[in-house]
Amino acid sequence: MNPEKIKIGIDEVGRGCFAGPVVACAVCFDKENIIENGKFLSSLDDSKKLTRKKREIIFTQLIKFANKKKPLLKFGMGVVDNFYIDEKNIREATKLAMQRALDELLLKINPNNIQSVLVDGKDNFVFTNLIKKPVFIIDGDEKVLEIQAASIIAKVFRDKLMCVYSSLYPEYGFEKNAGYGTDKHREKIIMKEDLTGIHRLSFKPVKEVLNKKSKLLLHICCGPDACVPIVDYKDKYEIIAYWYDPNIHPRKEYLKRLNAFKKICKIEKVDLIEGPYEVKKFLTSIKGFENTPEKGEKCFQCYRLRLQESAKKANELNCEYLTTTLYMSPLKDIEKLTRIGEEISEKYNLKYLPLIFRKKNGFLRSVDYCKEYDIYRQNYCGCIYSDTYPFKIHEKKTATLNLKHSKFKELILKNN
Ligand code: SF4
Repeated sequence: MNPEKIKIGIDEVGRGCFAGPVVACAVCFDKENIIENGKFLSSLDDSKKLTRKKREIIFTQLIKFANKKKPLLKFGMGVVDNFYIDEKNIREATKLAMQRALDELLLKINPNNIQSVLVDGKDNFVFTNLIKKPVFIIDGDEKVLEIQAASIIAKVFRDKLMCVYSSLYPEYGFEKNAGYGTDKHREKIIMKEDLTGIHRLSFKPVKEVLNKKSKLLLHICCGPDACVPIVDYKDKYEIIAYWYDPNIHPRKEYLKRLNAFKKICKIEKVDLIEGPYEVKKFLTSIKGFENTPEKGEKCFQCYRLRLQESAKKANELNCEYLTTTLYMSPLKDIEKLTRIGEEISEKYNLKYLPLIFRKKNGFLRSVDYCKEYDIYRQNYCGCIYSDTYPFKIHEKKTATLNLKHSKFKELILKNN
């Protein structure tokens, strides 16, 4: 290379991406010899203005020039990953990428022979290891051949890198969007779990996803069973409290329980959605199992009905997660409840959370909570078939169990 004519052009790519590194390239030509390639030089342009295909053709040619025995151009590359970008900021990362590109190039030339260092943009970075002060040129990638070559090499190199990432994370479209915030890319990063190890967590749209709470539909069976789950999980999830108690009998008791839960919603500042009171639906769902004991088939059908309706509501409200406060009661079959919950959630494309709220003193804490805030605690599960249904003893004295059931059914259907 002619030592008197070393002009360096520097450019970067990937500054505004949500994912992947920022990449910089520093280029200098052997002007004397490359002049013969005038036609080729006139094909250089701002990398953003070239088609992908054209860019790749020029890139291949540039690399060929660099690999000649007597190189017609020399270049250096600088890559700074998303972790540094998050730790410092994108400006500092860009500066470091440019410095690294320059440092590599300086190993291949004599720094004393540098005529000028031209950099695209207006950052006015100060680089180390340079005698000459770099000149920053706005739209330099439209005006300076060396910057154009640097922008093409950096762009194609980074695109290739993002294609490799795309093979690891095929659903993000990195091979097409190169980590930029296209619609497809934005649609993919809805939840925290959607973020990859190459996402820039400090970038606003990514940060928003990170800080976003997932929506959890919490099926509520009663206030005492709901207080601890709400206290424990309201900071982690955006809780949608869905009251669905279709079978509590009598209606007066239903309203008493609902009011107790409304009091908790007020204390914990949680919005409540009331499901329908539909005893008829419940009776249909347990048909044939009425006389099975609590924790038996009748109750499994009851879990199913409650979770089925809750899953429908969760879908309607775009929730990601589903669970139920039925997990608080020691009288519920946890394994069965989980199996039913998972099966229904799969059908509705929800993630099911088998949170055993009664563990770790959950039940005792709920007793304390109710005492502290004077919350009504019921003494039977809810439906007329509950083992401790309060009117049962009296009923047994006066009629057969079947007679009692039909009498109550009649009464319920009338009132429903
Ligand atoms: S006893 Fe409780 S869980 Fe069982 S069916 Fe009745 S309300 Fe449902």
